[in-house]
Amino acid sequence: MSSRSRHKEGEFTFLRKLLARVPTGRGVVVGPGHDAARVRAGAKDWLLTVDSQVEGVHFQRAWLSLSALGRRSFRVAASDIAAMGGRARFVLVDCGVPERLPLASLQRIELGLVEEAQAWGAWVVGGNLHRSVELALSVTVVAEAPRRRVDRGAARPGELVAVTGNFGDAALCVHLLRSRRPCPPGLLRRWQMPPRLDRLGRMLVEGGLPSAMIDVSDGLVQDLQHVCEVSGVGAELNAASVPRSQAYRRLVGDDLTFALSGGEDYELLFTVPAKRLEAVRQLARREGVALTVIGRVVRGHRVVVEQQGRELHLQRFGFDHFAG
Ligand SMILES: [Mg+2]
Repeated sequence: MSSRSRHKEGEFTFLRKLLARVPTGRGVVVGPGHDAARVRAGAKDWLLTVDSQVEGVHFQRAWLSLSALGRRSFRVAASDIAAMGGRARFVLVDCGVPERLPLASLQRIELGLVEEAQAWGAWVVGGNLHRSVELALSVTVVAEAPRRRVDRGAARPGELVAVTGNFGDAALCVHLLRSRRPCPPGLLRRWQMPPRLDRLGRMLVEGGLPSAMIDVSDGLVQDLQHVCEVSGVGAELNAASVPRSQAYRRLVGDDLTFALSGGEDYELLFTVPAKRLEAVRQLARREGVALTVIGRVVRGHRVVVEQQGRELHLQRFGFDHFAG
């Protein structure tokens, strides 16, 4: 397949086809298609995930300090672990280093990453450096799996769809930075440092509360669609109820584009039976995390976004890395 047609096909279709051919074996509890893999080693289950931050694709050097880049790279990767209720323990870092980058800069990135990992209870146990055209960090996180298994695959019709936090700030920030317009400090901080939701994720899973969960990295509608596909259900999403910050509303009013399809929010989205909602609310309140019900799971296979009783058609439902 040429790279041109691969790009056109889109990341998700491409990944689905590629991974369908990957053989699976003993010890694989949850394979490709979820936020993290779940594997059994000895008597214990572990979660494994990897994520990258590439200069020019995910960030520009002027948008954050080197230390913040290290911290952000860990949070982005560990967000997948939070979505499956895991406890991050070990980290491997692969770093693509441009020739012009001073060694002191590399150390600042590394220090930021190591400190952030430690704050989560995880240790950086190895890595690799290689020459690269652009600065690129690839972070692998190994985490202890919770006893209960929650992934994207068990949402059922009739359940509620709930999310943590606000949506659209990070994508709006990137949009402003790319178009060289001033970005309010609050929005910039939101993009630089994704929320830390591992404790809440763990408590939700250990409490047996969500039926399915995902972290929103590609865009709210896109990621809800991922849950629907794996679970074999549809969803109705009430656009007006999607939580947005004051800064977001001040800048774009009622425009929902960034909130619904921007991506990089790294909030949790989960499905939950109505009878368990109060228990979820109590946990979120205790953790100081805002919680909003934005829709419900229905029979079918797609996400319908409703605004004032009518279906809203968005042109782009998320960040597709190979689109164009
Ligand atoms: Mg994810």
